[in-house]
Parts: sequence; structure tokens; C-alpha cells
Amino acid sequence: MNEINQNTEITVAMVSLGCPKNQVDAESMLGKIAQSDFIITTDIDDTDVIIINTCGFIDPAKKEAISEMRYFAQLKEQGQIQKIIATGCLTQRMGEKLLEREPYLDAIVGLGERDNIADIIKESFVATEPLVHLERKDGFVSDDSARLLTTPPHWAYLRISEGCNRKCTFCTIPQIRGSFRSKPIEMLVSEAKELVNSGAKELDLIAQDSNYYGKDHGKSNGLVKLLDELEKIENLEWIRVMYLYPATVTDELIKKIASSKKVLNYFDIPIQHINNEILSSMQRSDTKEKTTKLIERVRETMPDAVIRTTVIVGYPGESSEQFDELIKFIKWAKFDALGCFPYYAEKGTPAQKLKGQIKGKLKQKRVEEVMLTQQKIVFEKNAKLIGKELQVAYDGIDENNEHIGRYYGQAPQIDGVCIIDNCNANRGDFLRTKVIGTRDYDIIVEQLAK
Ligand code: SF4
Repeated sequence: MNEINQNTEITVAMVSLGCPKNQVDAESMLGKIAQSDFIITTDIDDTDVIIINTCGFIDPAKKEAISEMRYFAQLKEQGQIQKIIATGCLTQRMGEKLLEREPYLDAIVGLGERDNIADIIKESFVATEPLVHLERKDGFVSDDSARLLTTPPHWAYLRISEGCNRKCTFCTIPQIRGSFRSKPIEMLVSEAKELVNSGAKELDLIAQDSNYYGKDHGKSNGLVKLLDELEKIENLEWIRVMYLYPATVTDELIKKIASSKKVLNYFDIPIQHINNEILSSMQRSDTKEKTTKLIERVRETMPDAVIRTTVIVGYPGESSEQFDELIKFIKWAKFDALGCFPYYAEKGTPAQKLKGQIKGKLKQKRVEEVMLTQQKIVFEKNAKLIGKELQVAYDGIDENNEHIGRYYGQAPQIDGVCIIDNCNANRGDFLRTKVIGTRDYDIIVEQLAK
């Protein structure tokens, strides 16, 4: 069957890979599909159409996406699936090369064509050749309203911009997603209200570089102004800002976060490295001195601030002394959470051409050393929480049948959780709890009377 029979119900499923920005794209596409004649299913092995929303940031993400595509190619060969459509960052990054490599695909859809997904699915049923919809539309600012959320209803991502204007030498994002475009405040307030009206109590603001918000329109402190507006929304309890570029965290932003009842004392500041030579080679505008001051400023203003970061190890030319400097800094900074990635030499990035590329084994060894250093810090910090009272947002029951939630220092999907003993609550409730223990990166709490 190659045509859509009006009387047949065509089912569409989606697999979305990668970061929360991609997740928002996936939710927006699902929203568009839900408004069309197609039926959305979560049964990915028994669907007429599968959409693979890919990530193309680093090599392992590319491999994961291709392996998903090939899995569905087999199902297509067996007649279980009719159409396979690739969307997202890898599709945008590889363009028609993806189709040459994976010829069973029925359509490749770039980031700027996201909102036409329902029409593209329809078109795929009548087309005789694979469809190519790759226009990136660099001026495109996505309206993410009417999304079909893939997060629980009590929290959602609010994507505040698209693209990135920085030139970090290891990063493929600006090539894939184009230059930074802030979404208008009015659009964001309206999206936020829609999410809150459908049950969201926590909004997690995401961007490639959140504190760049507004600068593409020549406005300073745009993020502070946006937070001013968002915190006026009734029934919105928690606002969390992710991805703050360290060098441009202003005193105004720190003051705003410190004084707000809704904006959480949570700082996600990806430092990437701390050695000044490496930072300068990465074309980051941070320095060790600036980052040290930032951490001191945040902790002086908010002693209870939770600070998360990410670092890259094995960047070209990283000597053992430079790596030791990073370890020493991690011990000093005592980050509350830290993600560590080995450097990947990505095609088309300036760092790929640098001399002194480091072998995989050594990079992996360095990742392990960072993670062991950080583990000790987190375990000690979590142990110090025992006996403290924490407000916890109840997320529900996990795959181990345990009640879980998060306090303000735990962002969804990336940080640890609170395991709640003796819990009696509905999803999205805010609970009064007391910390009674720890388990790995998680905290064990007991629910207290209101
Ligand atoms: S700020 Fe982030 S997204 Fe932008 S280029 Fe640097 S690493 Fe990539």
C-alpha cells in the first residue's frame, strides 16, 4: 500500500534522541501530528510510520541514531513498518549524505521544516522518491505552543531561543542549528502560561546559551527581564535556568535568582575546562580567574546554591599538568553535580584540525579520574544533607517501584533524585520531607506532615 486510504487509520510513533532541545522539537512535532489525521502510538514496533528525531552533536550520538534507523529498516523489510522518517540535528548536519548512506529512509527533514511534519508524512505516502526537506531557515524562531509533552505534566521544558553565536572550537551546534535567535518574551510568556494551565508547576528554561537571551536584539540582561515576566505567572512554582555560559553570568542575574521566590538557586554553568591555555584554544571567553570569582560570588550570595557543571577532557594538547589543574579545581569548587565528556574530534570543527589529538584510552582514563573525584565530593555533600528538611516535588513511582521526587538542587533527567520513604502524594505535589540517608548519587527522604 503506498497511498493513504482515508478510511485507514495511519499510526505514527517517534523515537527522540539527544538533549532537551531536541525533546522540545519532538514534542512540537507530536503536537502537529496530533492535530492531523494520524494516530499517535507509543508502540514503536507496531506502527505504520516511525520518526527518528536524531541527535548529531558527537560521534556516539550519530552512531546511536544510525543504529536506531537500521533497526527500523529491518522492520520495514519485514513489512511491519511502512515509512521511516529522519528528523533532527543529525539529519540537518549530514543532509543528503544521510540518504545516500541510509537509502531505506522515506524522508529526511531538517530543523526548519519541523512544523511541516504532518504534511511531509502525508507526502511520503504518495512520493515515488525519498523526500528531502532540509531548509534550515536561519531566521526561524520556533513557536513551541500546543506541544504534546513527553515529560510528566507537572514539569516541562521552556526553550527560550534557537542556535548559538559562540565559536567554541569543539562544538558542532552553530553549524547545525545556526546563529542565536531569542524567542520574543510575549511568545515565551504565552507558551509558559499554556504549560502551567495544563498542569506544569516547574519550568526548566533551556537554550544553547541561556544568558545570551536578548543580546541578538541588542538588549542587556534579557534573561533577567524574561524571569521577571515568568515569575508573575500564577501557579508556576519553580523556574530553573539551565545552560548558563559562565563568563557572562552578571551580578544582576545572580541578584535576580537570589531574590526570587520562584527561580531556583540552581546554577548550571558548563565550564568545559579550567586551564587558561585550553580555554583560549577552545575559544571560550572564560578564564580560571573569572570562573573562580563567579563560583565565589554565587556561593557568597546564596550559600545554599547548587552548582552543576560539565567538563571536557582529552582536548587536543591537554597535558597531564593541565589535566591535574582541572582535577585540583574540581576539588576546590566542590560542584554539586558534574558531567564529564571525553573530547570528540568532530568533522568541520576547528579543534579537529589541531595537533596533539589524544588517544581514546587516555581520554577514558581521564574521564574516570574526574568522575571518581566528583563522586567523592557528591557523596560527602549528600551525607551532609542528612537531618535537613527539604521541599520535594513528587515525580511518581519509578521502574524500581519507589516513590521519587526532586528538591530544588536536582534537575530532571540529569541529576540524582530523592527516594521518598512513606509517601502519600499525587504527582506534582510539593512535599515537606526530611533527609534520612543517601544511596549512590540519590538522597533518601521521609515525608513529613504538612
Ligand atoms: S556555547 Fe555551547 S552550544 Fe554554543 S558553541 Fe559553545 S559549546 Fe556549542
